[in-house]
Amino acid sequence: MTLPPLLRGAAATLRPRVPCYLVLFVTRRCNAACPFCFYPINTPDDALSVGEIERIVTKHPHFLQVTLSGGEPYLRSDLAELVEVLARAGRVRFLTVSSNGSLPERTAAVIGRVLASCPDLRYRASLSVDDLPEQHEELRRIPGLFERIRASYAALVRLADRHPGRLELNVQTVLSGLNKARIAEVHAFLARELPRCRRSLVLARGEVPDPASLDVTADEYEHAARLWAASRPARDALREPHYAVLDATLDYQQEVVARVLRDDRAVPPCAAGRRLVVIDTNGDVLPCEMRQVVRRVTGSDVLGNLRDHDHDLGRLLGAADARVAVERIRSRRCRCTFECAINASVAFSPPRLANAVVRRAVRSAFG
Ligand code: SF4
Repeated sequence: MTLPPLLRGAAATLRPRVPCYLVLFVTRRCNAACPFCFYPINTPDDALSVGEIERIVTKHPHFLQVTLSGGEPYLRSDLAELVEVLARAGRVRFLTVSSNGSLPERTAAVIGRVLASCPDLRYRASLSVDDLPEQHEELRRIPGLFERIRASYAALVRLADRHPGRLELNVQTVLSGLNKARIAEVHAFLARELPRCRRSLVLARGEVPDPASLDVTADEYEHAARLWAASRPARDALREPHYAVLDATLDYQQEVVARVLRDDRAVPPCAAGRRLVVIDTNGDVLPCEMRQVVRRVTGSDVLGNLRDHDHDLGRLLGAADARVAVERIRSRRCRCTFECAINASVAFSPPRLANAVVRRAVRSAFG
């Protein structure tokens, strides 16, 4: 029986060791060269084929939310087929695809096709903009990038109008030591330039080419986080009720990131490896993207490779080594600023989620 997404979410919270949130790296190819990127772009990737991904999600049809990342996902020529497999064999209903926005025609072709072929899929198209146009192009090392982002945005607006309620537009900004001085200006610019996009903020993290990227203090982060939180008005939840949950989760996420930055205080047990997993392009399964931190805590950053476990995620996570590593994450109170893991820690914990929703409702009512 196929349950509607919200009921599937509720059912998922009753099975605490079943991952419901997947970050899937689909390619290492990238046409940018960002100084704050932690991913080994343009290295050999021996990528999982669409057929292999189909086997994985057929055996594990429990992912409610899947985020596709890379590299630049739209450089993968079979991306539309890959998404169709996730939606049909994996029963995925919420999909986010993060892109640098440099490929407007390919982006529109993929999204147009899957919105037509997968009627239950809700697609979140996220474009990255970190700075004002000139600085952004310098950061990402793609001349003329901003014009291409404008073209991608225009195509996405047309598709969103053609498929009401099925395509959410988002613009994601990486806060780093390289753009923090202009962050308020960037925020105002995005509101003017890409008004149909919701806005999300992530903090530069991990092992990156330019360590200056990581130079952001707790005060600087909180300043930016307040601007982004103000761009999530309570009326969004009246228009689309799932924003009540999503925006409460984002508020909570920003509080935890600030807490980790300020005094590395203990935060709720991380859900990485239990609620969220990361599958790398080659089939490696990681609890999270923070390889360096998780290696320190568990002794390894990889839980296993799906090709060695018959593409069966449940079998891989049930192996002794993987179970020990995931238990160490919990018992040693591993902590970091990886936003997706924080979101999973609240979204799949009923008491924490209820607390976050109530606090957001109170803040919205009383200012
Ligand atoms: S706290 Fe961070 S580094 Fe540790 S397991 Fe969670 S996401 Fe990974």
